[in-house]
Formats: sequence, structure tokens, C-alpha cells
Amino acid sequence: MSDRISRILKKEKFSKADIVKLLQTNKEERQLLFAKANEVKKEYVGLKTYYRGLIEFSNICAKDCYYCGIRAGNKNVRRYDISDEQILQAVKFAYDNNYGSVVFQSGERMDKQFIERIEQLLIKSKNITNGKIGITISLGEQSSETYKKWYNAGAHRYLLRIESSNKELYYKIHPQNAKHDFDTRLKALYDLQKIGYQTGTGVMIGLPFQTFEHLADDLLFFKAFDVDMVGMGPYIEHTETPLYHHRLLLLPLEERFILTLKMIAILRIMMKDINIAAATALQAIDPIGREKAIKVGANIIMPNITPTINREDYQLYENKPCIDEGADECTNCLEARIGISGDDIGYGEWGDAPHFKNRKKTDLYNI
Ligand code: SF4
Repeated sequence: MSDRISRILKKEKFSKADIVKLLQTNKEERQLLFAKANEVKKEYVGLKTYYRGLIEFSNICAKDCYYCGIRAGNKNVRRYDISDEQILQAVKFAYDNNYGSVVFQSGERMDKQFIERIEQLLIKSKNITNGKIGITISLGEQSSETYKKWYNAGAHRYLLRIESSNKELYYKIHPQNAKHDFDTRLKALYDLQKIGYQTGTGVMIGLPFQTFEHLADDLLFFKAFDVDMVGMGPYIEHTETPLYHHRLLLLPLEERFILTLKMIAILRIMMKDINIAAATALQAIDPIGREKAIKVGANIIMPNITPTINREDYQLYENKPCIDEGADECTNCLEARIGISGDDIGYGEWGDAPHFKNRKKTDLYNI
């Protein structure tokens, strides 16, 4: 059995059938996969993990994704929007603590006031850090003009998760309407790449209705799209969401966790020089979940530096970890954890994916 997996792991390129087999590996076989992913990581991006200080500055959202605890339709959420001063303080904290980069994340809004506010925040964040802080944004689907505006204001990486690259599955986890249109999301990803962002996407793993074939297609989608970064984590159900009704279709949490590690490991082998995040959702299942992901190919970790008082209100899924630890505690705890996983921390570095420089500058609109 293990021979079959060893043979696949020696291939230059995985077929969909190969990926499905790797996703179905048993306990013994998956050790081969994990060891190979760690080797590839060491050779292509080094055994180094980079920080992105995560600022979840608002949970106000205009959308209604079926899996999300802070969707507009959930009236039981206490909505918050932290002040610009608090956001900039968090940026300064990241800079002073040598994080290298921050991530701005919030619910999705496309109104003029929001767009201009972000532009100003990006400019100010660069000013107060002498242009040194790297900025990733994760603020959903926007027009190409807005993406350009934010790029010119100082953001250089953008994370927009597709959640599932399969259109049919996408509409099982999102309403089928103009606000949640699959093709609009794809176009947004193309726009980001064309403008010059280091572009990231990702999916949820272990969704109801999801098959191994869907997951294999997700990995092939990342490859075909030539992404620079991927953030993917296990799906964790939230009681106050429509998708919760399908919870009986779910794999046990531990299996979703292992499947996520396998996805990370396979992706590292397929796309050797990209950045892969160890999602916080992994830690909601296993206290050292993110460290396990680092050992099998991930190289980015996003410590939460949102003011603690607001963290419990930003729960896309339940049992989110670290919602009551201050940013300082978070830093100390992480440093120790990453040390255990064998990686160094890329303090003070942006930690851009080598892939961005290496990838061909093709016009993806023509593919
Ligand atoms: S996943 Fe994002 S866009 Fe969808 S409802 Fe939640 S916060 Fe809003």
C-alpha cells in the first residue's frame, strides 16, 4: 500500500486521481506525504514561519454566507467597528514587535465611506511605520477601481477565499443571488492578480456535500490560477447559520483536521514556493493544530492583534481560540509554539511568497 503512495509522491505532477488517493491515505501512508511536504518546504521556502498580525476591525457585513456566524442575517451578533486609532495602534504594535506584516480583515462592505476609510488607513499605516509594515487585506469582493485604489495606498497582498471552486457546492454554502455570485468572485480574483497584488485564495475543508474529488479540484484550481498564497482550514459549524442544519452530513472534527493537514501537505508539494497559512480554525480543533500544519508545509501564521474586547464578536465559527488573550500574550505563546515545530520566525520580514517573483506574468484573462 505504502509503495503506491511512494510512487505517487515521486511524480512531477499529480493527476486528480493521484490527489484523491493522497487524500484517502491511512495513518501510516500519510506520514510519507507529510515527510515529503516538509522536505519540499525546507528546500523551496525554508523552515521559517512569518507573522501576519491579524486585525479583525469590524464584524459588520452586508452578505449572508450560509456558514458564517457574523452573516448579516444573524441578529444575535453584537456588531462592532473599532476606531481608526485602535486599528493604527494595532499596526504600531505589530511594527514594534517586529511582525513584518499585518492583515486587515472585516465583514464585507462596498460603500464609499468604507472604501475611503480603508484607503486612509493604509496610507496612515505606512506613514507610522516608515513604510516598513507589509499589508495584506482581506475585505472581500470589490470593484477593480477599489482594488487599484487600495493597492496604490500601500496594500500589496490580497486574500479572497473562493471557499469552494466547485460552482454547485459554492451555491450550497452561499445564497444564489447577485450578492453572492460565483463568477463575480472569480473575476475579482483575476482583477487582483492583474493589478499586481500577491493574490491568495482558499477553501473550507470538510463541508457538508463536499467530496474528495471536490477537494482535489480545489488544489488543481489553485495551481491553474497560479496563486501566490493559500489560506484554507477545516469547516467548523456555527449553530446560528443555515448550514448547521446539515451537520449530520459532517465528518467528525478530527477527520476534518487530518484532511486539512493532508490538503496543506499536497499543496506544498504541488506549489512549492507559495505561502500557505496555518489557519486559526486548526487550533480550534487541536491545541497545537497550527504547529502541526507548519510541520507539513504551512509557513504563515496570523496572530490575532485585534483589541481583546472585540474578539469574541468576530466568530465566523464557534469555539474560536485565543479570543481572550492580549496581543502580548499571543506573541509569547506563539513564539514558544513555533519553536517546538522546528521553524524559525521571520521577524521583521514581509515574508512574500517567492512564487510571486517566479511566476510568469501571463495575462490570465486570456487563459
Ligand atoms: S464569510 Fe465574510 S462575506 Fe460571508 S457573511 Fe461572513 S463575514 Fe460576511
